[in-house]
Amino acid sequence: MTGKYPALAGIHAVKNEADGHVWTIGEILRELDNVRSLLREKGLEPASIGSVVFNPRLTRSCGRTRRKNGVYSMDFSVAYFQHAAPDSIRNTIAHETIHTVPGCFNHGKKFQQVARMLDADGYDVSTRDYDEAYTAYREQKREAKPVFYILCPNCGKKMDKYVRLSPTLKAIIQDKQERFYCPACMSSGLQVIKRMPDGTETALKSV
Ligand SMILES: [Zn+2]
Ligand SMILES: [Zn+2]
Repeated sequence: MTGKYPALAGIHAVKNEADGHVWTIGEILRELDNVRSLLREKGLEPASIGSVVFNPRLTRSCGRTRRKNGVYSMDFSVAYFQHAAPDSIRNTIAHETIHTVPGCFNHGKKFQQVARMLDADGYDVSTRDYDEAYTAYREQKREAKPVFYILCPNCGKKMDKYVRLSPTLKAIIQDKQERFYCPACMSSGLQVIKRMPDGTETALKSV
């Protein structure tokens, strides 16, 4: 068995948007067990897994396996489970399971050998982290993000572009700030403009 997982881990189920399937932690544990028995049939010895959770903050990778004092714990990305192609999810679970096989903690030669051993069982485990559907989702999300720039309402000068609200922009938004001023007209009554991809603009500071 894959062992216990914390009962209060928060997110217990995530719905995949492509096929509507609801992935529960219990189902992931069953998937893990399947892969573990396949690996054992091939003479390998996957380590036992201490905990499995959905992590809403994990967005840069699909899943993550960590090892502490010989105990493995796994996080799976909520956004990935929502937006990945259904087959990729099973491959990701297999990918993380391979990391618990001795010598497979990184994506080296042994990892790749073991990954190929699962080909015959219908898995397609690669060392890369994303599938196409999730990559497309992430790109779309990035495109949907606003950009920010600084406007001097006094002379109309537009300055700099930012992809997030940086400390400088946050300082400019403060009322009556005097640290930053327009290089053209020296006015410190600057505005931060938030521009959405559709062209709508909002001033984050009114002067
Ligand atoms: Zn990996
Ligand atoms: Zn100006």
